[in-house]
Amino acid sequence: MAKNKGRESIILKCTVCGEETYLSSSNKKKHPERLERNKYCPRCQKVTVHKEKK
Ligand SMILES: [Zn+2]
Repeated sequence: MAKNKGRESIILKCTVCGEETYLSSSNKKKHPERLERNKYCPRCQKVTVHKEKK
């Protein structure tokens, strides 16, 4: 399971309801700082702003 080096799984958290959405893609070179993405939240049932949880 150590073959996926360089690829970390990050957690994106909905800023509206706090629901955590898991994403397995991370571009630390492209985004060295916290990610902020518009993602679909199943709890809000709409696209909301998600921030990387750390
Ligand atoms: Zn939400």
